Amino acid sequence: MSFSKPHRHREEGEEYKKFARRIFERDGYRCRNPFCGATTNLTVHHLKKRSQLGDDLPGNCLTLCARCHDDAEAHRLEIEVVDVVIKVNGGSDVRVGDSR
Ligand SMILES: [Zn+2]
Repeated sequence: MSFSKPHRHREEGEEYKKFARRIFERDGYRCRNPFCGATTNLTVHHLKKRSQLGDDLPGNCLTLCARCHDDAEAHRLEIEVVDVVIKVNGGSDVRVGDSR
């Protein structure tokens, strides 16, 4: 007799990589901290954490380098989306800061 482990469904692996690339492309492969602007060690930061029902959606995510990501997680860096960026790219638009 074997136990089947519960199967978790997460946006990881290839799907998550694809999603991350979409965020990086929108943000120009650059850390969104205006005082940083690093172009290496980029990560996807969730404005609303996944553990707080944050979504893997472009409007909830932005590009941060690993260091700024750590600072954001530790609340040394406060992130507030103050403007709406709409980029139309091949017919698909991406909005940031649309909280409706
Ligand atoms: Zn940074």
